[in-house]
Amino acid sequence: MKFVLASHNKGKLAEMQKILGELGVEVVLQSELGLDLEPEETGETFLDNARIKARAVMEAGGLPAIADDSGLCVDALNGAPGVYSARYGGLEDDAARCRLLLQNMRGSMTRAAHFHTSVVCVFPDGTELTAQGECSGTIAYAPLGDGGFGYDPVFLYPPLRKTFAQMTAEEKNAVSHRGNALRAFAAELKNYLEKH
Ligand code: IMP
Repeated sequence: MKFVLASHNKGKLAEMQKILGELGVEVVLQSELGLDLEPEETGETFLDNARIKARAVMEAGGLPAIADDSGLCVDALNGAPGVYSARYGGLEDDAARCRLLLQNMRGSMTRAAHFHTSVVCVFPDGTELTAQGECSGTIAYAPLGDGGFGYDPVFLYPPLRKTFAQMTAEEKNAVSHRGNALRAFAAELKNYLEKH
């Protein structure tokens, strides 16, 4: 069975293929089908935004479509930046968004935070599969490490005493919100495929 990933990101495709390949399914990027749509993420939750992307791509391409949506939720900031993680403060680059986050956390003793990922798969008959993944940690007092992307340098993963930006891709995938969500999604999909 062929699935289309509602994304233009080759890194996401590789991660998805690695996990779903074991189920014998093929996953292609939306651009490989000539679909250049980029639906506006107007949802109030990660699940809503993943659903908006998956539905739009399924309707445009006629194939089952998978989308994910992620972000960082900081307790002391009432869950911000949350669904606005990619556009926090209207800022254009990752380093500026990390600086703003640290600035907004100045003086806060409560450093708890978690990353969240929602995954939605929509089939042409309207069937929907969903999965969620989280990773809990704390916000560092200064950026550390130069791997990864986004908020990785300011997200400390206490069990390894490293920020996500100090971990190898394998270390991060094994515990990350996205890794956890994709593994949960693979289990959902396996269950679905066994019944259909
Ligand atoms: P997306 O939904 O995967 O595109 O993620 C939205 C935004 O959340 C990204 O632009 C990042 O700012 C942030 N984000 C999501 N996942 C991660 C991660 O693993 N590390 C750091 N930042 C992340």
